Amino acid sequence: TIPREYVSGESHFYLGRRYLLKVYYQPNSAETVRMSRGYLEVSVQKRHVIRIQKLLDLWYFTRAQKVFQARLTALLPITIWVKNPPFIKLQVMQTQWGNCSPKGMITLNPYLVKAPRECIDYVILHELCHLKEHNHKPAFWSLLDRAMPDWARHKARLDTMAELILQK
Ligand SMILES: [Zn+2]
Repeated sequence: TIPREYVSGESHFYLGRRYLLKVYYQPNSAETVRMSRGYLEVSVQKRHVIRIQKLLDLWYFTRAQKVFQARLTALLPITIWVKNPPFIKLQVMQTQWGNCSPKGMITLNPYLVKAPRECIDYVILHELCHLKEHNHKPAFWSLLDRAMPDWARHKARLDTMAELILQK
């Protein structure tokens, strides 16, 4: 795939939807990112691609924190084996959407917030199942089947979008 150029008209993703980037150069205004009517609007002071990329990365990170926390809260009633809500840490990873440490810390890729909500739920549920089953043996998959019977569909969709979402 072609790397993004961070210019107006380019496609960027949030919760599975496509937004067109609009870049404004406003040397005397505060630098901001906002979503408005199908557009992702970035206001920057200098015409630096790196700066636009950085602002967008920060925006995705902040959105990811809010969305993942909200989805975790929404999913906890299903995952009755989770006694204490785990701490979610965000970390950009090259080849993983998430992982669960032996001590029960869940790490999620902030760019997962570009994927549809059901795909985010699949990754969170997958990691929550690892709090009970620390491997991918049959007991793990039957737990996941019970938590999200149609998980394979959402995983397949996420796999299809992966390249697009992880593209810089
Ligand atoms: Zn796993």
